[in-house]
Amino acid sequence: MKISEKFGKGKTVLSFEVFPPKKTSSIETVYSTIEQLTDLKPAYISVTYGAGGNLANNSTCEIASAIKNKYNTEAMAHVTCVNCTKSDLETILGRFREANIENILALRGDINPDIPPKTDFKYASELVTFIKEHGDFGISGACYPEVHAEAPDMVTDILNLKKKVDAGAETLVTQLFFDNRAFYDFRDKVRIAGINVPISAGIMPVTNKNQIERMVSMCGASLPQKFTKMIQKYEFNQEALIDAGIAYAADQIVDLISNGVEGIHLYTMNNPYVARKITDLIGKLL
Ligand code: FAD
Repeated sequence: MKISEKFGKGKTVLSFEVFPPKKTSSIETVYSTIEQLTDLKPAYISVTYGAGGNLANNSTCEIASAIKNKYNTEAMAHVTCVNCTKSDLETILGRFREANIENILALRGDINPDIPPKTDFKYASELVTFIKEHGDFGISGACYPEVHAEAPDMVTDILNLKKKVDAGAETLVTQLFFDNRAFYDFRDKVRIAGINVPISAGIMPVTNKNQIERMVSMCGASLPQKFTKMIQKYEFNQEALIDAGIAYAADQIVDLISNGVEGIHLYTMNNPYVARKITDLIGKLL
């Protein structure tokens, strides 16, 4: 089923994100996580695509296939194009079709200064067009409530987002954020720009201080005072920080649902305990 068909049915669409295990771990390690996540009955689970987009080493297709075909949960495979040729993408899309994967999050990927990008695709919108020409996939795109790092300003970034949606992205998933006001401001501007597809809000329950520092340096999310106070208070008490991180994320989600958000995309960090706790807290509100 296409993910776009899950929206507009009077319920907030709850989805999870997992990442493939590191090269040093066996792929089996992720299956226990997925089994526990699928028990929580999300609308779909997405699987990230290794930064750099190495075709040979990528287990995204295998994991998305297990989610869909073994655990009977809708899957969305992430794909990046910055380091791919059109021929690489044809191979990847062929694998998806064979594995019965119907949904793709079409991404450009981050540009690694040490690896010159391939020239077939410059922006995710071009990947969206390519995917549409190569199969009947449901296509989603990424968006940035606090502006993509390379964009000069929000207006430019939103006008670029419009090109991606006009190319065929049917739903959007946001970068993680900790301040809901950033999301509401972004959503208003996106709608004024004539982008009317459903937007899922990306929420990451924070469970350790290093994780926040890494994430914030990567994606530039702003940290409200309420959030930094929480981290300062519990940074040396791991158990308390996990509870506080779950409570903070649940509070964000309650507010988002009350304000009509169409979807919640939980960055689970492959932690089923945290996903279960959040689902217990917000499950009846969706
Ligand atoms: P684009 O939509 O192409 O945008 C990139 C930049 O180009 C933006 O600044 C935009 O304003 C600008 N732009 C777009 N179109 C045009 C145009 N026509 N003319 C001029 N400028 C333009 N990375 C991974 O490696 N693997 C993953 O699995 C992964 N999953 C992600 C999931 C989500 C929900 C999000 C939000 C990000 C994810 N990323 C992932 C990171 C993503 O690859 C990076 O943020 C990347 O830098 C941008 O990707 P994009 O698809 O948003 O690019």
